[in-house]
Amino acid sequence: MVGKAHVLVVDDDPDKLALLEFALTTAGYDVRTAGDGEEALAAVSSFQPDLVVSDIMMPRMNGYELARRIRENPQTRFIPVILQTAAGYRAEDQRYGSEVGALGFISDPTDIDLLLARASTLLDFKAYLDTCEEEASTDHLTGLANRRRFERQLEREVVRTLRYGHPFCLIMMDIDHFKQVNDNYGHAAGDQVLRLIGKTLQEGTRGIDLAARIGGEEFAIIFTETDLVGALEVAERLRLAINAIEIPAVGPIAASFGVAECPSSAQTTRELLASADAALYEAKRQGRDRVIQAPAADLNSAAATYVRKAVVSGDTQRVSDFRLGNSISEPDV
Ligand SMILES: [Mg+2]
Repeated sequence: MVGKAHVLVVDDDPDKLALLEFALTTAGYDVRTAGDGEEALAAVSSFQPDLVVSDIMMPRMNGYELARRIRENPQTRFIPVILQTAAGYRAEDQRYGSEVGALGFISDPTDIDLLLARASTLLDFKAYLDTCEEEASTDHLTGLANRRRFERQLEREVVRTLRYGHPFCLIMMDIDHFKQVNDNYGHAAGDQVLRLIGKTLQEGTRGIDLAARIGGEEFAIIFTETDLVGALEVAERLRLAINAIEIPAVGPIAASFGVAECPSSAQTTRELLASADAALYEAKRQGRDRVIQAPAADLNSAAATYVRKAVVSGDTQRVSDFRLGNSISEPDV
């Protein structure tokens, strides 16, 4: 985690809430508060806490249910939860708290030293998990996202676009004649080219976009909330920026780009990748160092209709079928 650890404190008793907020803030944490489980769940997605300290008995949603909901969401399941209660406490309460996923149980919320000790240990574990997650999804040579993170993000974007109708674009990019760089100047020079291209992509995209290195000299960029016109513009700008990279020993560098838009070019991750790839291939075929857009797909095809219906109706089996590319050739619609 960068900067102060985020701690969310949840309690329906304003005095207890103020006490815990004061203690955790004084200990150096960035603290938010919520008055019940439902409010807390909303804060979990906006504030992205590294630790949740929650009362058990609360109106609307109690602490057990809050812990359970945090655990069952794949996006939040590793946020540690400490349950605390001032009410009469029985041994089975603690057991039940563990069953729903709480990692700490405090039966005297005024024991601030105990709370801070637990919080500190759990936050150390959370920081380590975050580091592991970051390492596992980063390409170490360029610092861009790796293929694993790229594929997960692409799936999310496709589902989001089909549900809300906002287009996004995928750019596939390949360095021209990269093999010659490695063959003629050695792998150290090749690595330098890759790092500089990574830097160029990072600087030429917004924070909400995702630039990834997905193969040896192959890169991909996901442009959130961007239509084809916008993505073509950025691709052209990136192409020129890559042309401008100067590595005296190696000489000029160039890259080819294929741009596809979801939903107009394709409506599944697999088809979108194929579509952007085909455009990239076309860019290579036409002489490299250029940007080519994918042709529009037939939006009224049976497969396109099938996918739209599956997403709109929330049919998870069908949604997972189309994500995997299964049975779309034989839609029953
Ligand atoms: Mg209470």
